[in-house]
Amino acid sequence: MGKVMIIGSGGVASVAAHKCVEVGAPIFSEILIASRTKEKCDALKARLLAKDPSAKISTDAVDAANTAALVDLIENFRPDLVMNLALPYQDLSIMEACLKTKTNYLDTANYEDETLAKFEYKEQWAYNERFAAAGLTAVLGCGFDPGVTGVFTAYAQKHEFDEIHSIDILDCNGGDHGYPFATNFNPEINIREVTAEGRYWENGEWITVPPMSVKRSYDFAEVGRRDMYLLYHEELESLVKNIPHLKRIRFFMTFGESYLMHLKCLENVGMTSIKPIDFNGQKIVPLQFLKAVLPDPATLGERTKGNTNIGCIVQGMKDGQAKTWYVYNVCDHEQCYREVGSQAVAYTTGVPAMIGAKMMLTGVWNLRGVHNVEEFDPDPFMDELNKRGLPWQTTDKPAAVE
Ligand code: NDP
Repeated sequence: MGKVMIIGSGGVASVAAHKCVEVGAPIFSEILIASRTKEKCDALKARLLAKDPSAKISTDAVDAANTAALVDLIENFRPDLVMNLALPYQDLSIMEACLKTKTNYLDTANYEDETLAKFEYKEQWAYNERFAAAGLTAVLGCGFDPGVTGVFTAYAQKHEFDEIHSIDILDCNGGDHGYPFATNFNPEINIREVTAEGRYWENGEWITVPPMSVKRSYDFAEVGRRDMYLLYHEELESLVKNIPHLKRIRFFMTFGESYLMHLKCLENVGMTSIKPIDFNGQKIVPLQFLKAVLPDPATLGERTKGNTNIGCIVQGMKDGQAKTWYVYNVCDHEQCYREVGSQAVAYTTGVPAMIGAKMMLTGVWNLRGVHNVEEFDPDPFMDELNKRGLPWQTTDKPAAVE
């Protein structure tokens, strides 16, 4: 019944493919893994077949920035859904190919122009009318954050609150991979995100602060106390648009001392710059060179110990009373590695991507047009999180973030 084309063969794509195979036919009856480097797709296929020899998997090479090449591939395979698990730079070329071939679309990261260190939904939302007119659905940002954080918020709105007034999204990675400096997902995207200015929304306006200038400490369940820093994150933009009565929304992520010290040093010497420089007669982008020398996040799985804890502290009104509600997931790096051979950051992104795909293929999420996850019914997705390895917990008495 469901034919899926997965674009990318990195950490997130690998987890999503494992989970699609786990769910299997008839929902995921056939999978094409297409990415820049075909050998990586073939290696992933071999790992998947070792787990389930009956899975129907094919592979191909594709440059996802090339819409015409994508159109050929899609027309050949005729998938019901394209899961874009490559990089945010390719979102628009893949959406364009989906539109041309009348295919549904899902991704986990907001479009970014490779030459500009910023992201916003404007370009992707601009596809809404064309997708709707073609009877197609595009689900944007269906990883954990963005992704599950939006689903958590939609669930809070549906069941726990009459009005939501504030949301703090807290992303804690309490895992230790033993390296002095490595990123848990694509280094280029990760470093672009954390070196950007911080931004949050309060009383109807965006407030910008220097990178890493707002620091808080929080005691995370099953991790312990960690320092966390205010960042701008893409779900803030869509939640401000989609959640009425919101007065404030912020996003915090934890970072260790060693990570921050190395990052500062790399920034100071120009290694995080995205401006091309001349080197030995060729142009190189320092950040892309840095990515090439850092550990590949896909290889961190077997070394990483500890838990992640990601969730939302929501405050607002229910039945005339002020209320606070915290919903979060704790994920164990070592358990993820035992299950799918990946660390928890890839796992917490790849599992929701598969669940979103399942929601679309089964017609449970069927709004036409381009939508963020919080616009759909959260209940079936929340049930799947519990079944597919990302159980969630709640408390009415969380510590507040100052
Ligand atoms: P990786 O770098 O591990 O994998 C990216 C994959 O995309 C690689 O297989 C790469 O190919 C492929 N790729 C890159 N450029 C192209 C291209 N032009 N054409 C075809 N394939 C291409 O990244 P991750 O798996 O860590 O991250 C994947 C996505 O998930 C990113 O967009 C990231 O921002 C997002 N993400 C979202 C999160 C969330 O919670 N929402 C959290 C973490 C990540 P090659 O192997 O040849 O390099």
